[in-house]
Amino acid sequence: MASNRTFTMVKPDAFGEGNCGAITKMIEEAGFRIVAAKVTKLSAERAGQFYEVHKERPFYNDLCNYMSSGAIMAMILEKDNAVADFRKLIGATNPADAEEGTIRKLYAKSIEANAIHGSDSDENAAIEGSFFFSKTEEF
Ligand code: ATP
Ligand code: MG
Repeated sequence: MASNRTFTMVKPDAFGEGNCGAITKMIEEAGFRIVAAKVTKLSAERAGQFYEVHKERPFYNDLCNYMSSGAIMAMILEKDNAVADFRKLIGATNPADAEEGTIRKLYAKSIEANAIHGSDSDENAAIEGSFFFSKTEEF
């Protein structure tokens, strides 16, 4: 995956509350092209694989349970400077710290149920994209 791509998931809280369309609209209006999209549900085990980097953290088990508690929408997005620009659009991990107008400020419930994921590097964007999609370079 080229460095102008990032990966995102609309998390179970936001998806379950029917905010997926509004969030996707914000993403497109911010200039991102949707390269691939899929609604699916993760098992706790698969959520644990996705967030394996956090396996030593005290919130890991809760995070796996939360991320497998309902449907999510996974997407690969394309834009110049995609990873950094997308992190800016979603805002801080804790919605209490997120800037006005960011997706998490508008839709996150808590530091855990924070509406949306965004890759933190080009390398992780590629790894996370292939966790859900294959052959995306053709899209
Ligand atoms: P994401 O990787 O989902 O985009 P992030 O990069 O902003 O989020 P990370 O530090 O990677 O934040 O944490 C991954 C996820 O774990 C968070 O988005 C949140 O759902 C959960 N999380 C992070 N910190 C805490 C915490 N202190 N308590 C509970 N849950 C947390
Ligand atoms: Mg992260």
